[in-house]
Amino acid sequence: MIVTRFAPSPTGYIHIGNVRSAIYPYLLARQNDGKMILRIEDTDRARYVEGATELIEDTLEWLGLNWDEGPIVGGSHGPYFQSERKEIYHEWARKLIATGRAYADPTPPEKIDEYRKQCNEQKIPFLYRNFRPENPPEWQPGTPLRFKVEPKSYQWHDEVMGDMHSGPEVLDDIILIKKDGFPTYNFAHIVDDAEMGVTHVMRGVEYLSSTPNYLAIYEALGLTRPKLVSLPHILAPTGNKKLGKRDGAKSVTEYRDDGVLAEAMLNYLACLGWNDGTEQEIYTKAELIKNFSLDRVQNSGARYDETKLLWMNGQWIRRIVDEQGVEALYSRTDNFWPASAASHSQEYRIKVLSIIYDRLKTLSDLREMTAYFFSDPEINTDMIINNKFLKKMPESELESLLKECIAKLTNLNNWDADSLQAALNDLLAETNKKPAELFSLIRIALSFAPFSPALNLTMDVLGKDTTLARLNAVARAI
Ligand code: GLU
Repeated sequence: MIVTRFAPSPTGYIHIGNVRSAIYPYLLARQNDGKMILRIEDTDRARYVEGATELIEDTLEWLGLNWDEGPIVGGSHGPYFQSERKEIYHEWARKLIATGRAYADPTPPEKIDEYRKQCNEQKIPFLYRNFRPENPPEWQPGTPLRFKVEPKSYQWHDEVMGDMHSGPEVLDDIILIKKDGFPTYNFAHIVDDAEMGVTHVMRGVEYLSSTPNYLAIYEALGLTRPKLVSLPHILAPTGNKKLGKRDGAKSVTEYRDDGVLAEAMLNYLACLGWNDGTEQEIYTKAELIKNFSLDRVQNSGARYDETKLLWMNGQWIRRIVDEQGVEALYSRTDNFWPASAASHSQEYRIKVLSIIYDRLKTLSDLREMTAYFFSDPEINTDMIINNKFLKKMPESELESLLKECIAKLTNLNNWDADSLQAALNDLLAETNKKPAELFSLIRIALSFAPFSPALNLTMDVLGKDTTLARLNAVARAI
């Protein structure tokens, strides 16, 4: 059975650059009827951020990446917070001590700095294993415990990076247990992955250079290596840097608050650095699970492109309406309407949504794009006079044109999209104006917005009274 894990450190929010280490383990586990574990790596107490675990859970839940074992859901390999597993690490550490593969290291940090300096001066690499204390004391928690490495070469296969090898020069006596009794990441993840039966260790490529040291520890503990999967960085929009919080990498849930749909976010991030070899761009979660494969994960960095994410979100907005109806999209729009929408009925809001949704990039576009449906826009005659299609017409002509429209629409008995379109067509013939001229005038007079949905639909939703009242007000003002 395939067992994967997502093992974040609760040091803040999950941002775009690191959530792929959750998505790919999820897809692989689901594809193979396996298990995904969520483990919180909170042994670095200095970097611990209160509330970060909840942010992580919230992000995964929003994206629909449910875990089979871990916080909230429990499981038979708990606890799932490393800070609660101290005894387990100490037990495993004692196994290494018993076989002579770990030693207590009372050397004070200043002394270690001195060794490092000596090496720098002699221009030789600093390897702590060359300075091992001769007679280490018996280990007691409170003293750092180090691995006693055997320098040698390693070969291994990384499922994304391919065949790898390393020489003895990269191996050192790394710290297993720190002075405060907590394990280092280097040791804790090995113990946990073994205890939890993890078959695929998927994580950022930043851990690749330490892998030989991990291989040495697996060997010393007599553990079978799990499959190792290094996920390349997501690159910042420009340059060759990895996308990090300092480059403005937003938290994943900030996009939710900005009106990005979870489907689009998951789709975009999964396809950032992975493709199935076809031209397909829009994938449901089920399709991602079906089509995902590790051997098609790109081994070089993938560039983050917010424009593409927003394009994909627009595609998803339309897809939801096409497949599930406008009510399904409406049910996700709660926080995104302009304040003035609150005084209108749900039925009216759904009507507005049904004619505007195909122009939305994010749900929060609703706030600006629909304001004129809920309250009369401020009249700005300059917007009419300076419009590129209207600026040749004298104001008197604009006024008489508006009056003709008003007369026509006043006499219209059936106020529906088809009758309105027919009336607009008649008006075109009667006034001898181009569609761009006549329709721009009416559109601006009704909305004073840069664009609106098709005019007949806009008038249909606004209703006869509002439409005529707005046209009259503009005719008076011009
Ligand atoms: N706790 C590590 C981090 O947040 C995870 C590395 C891993 O997945 O093993 O970077």
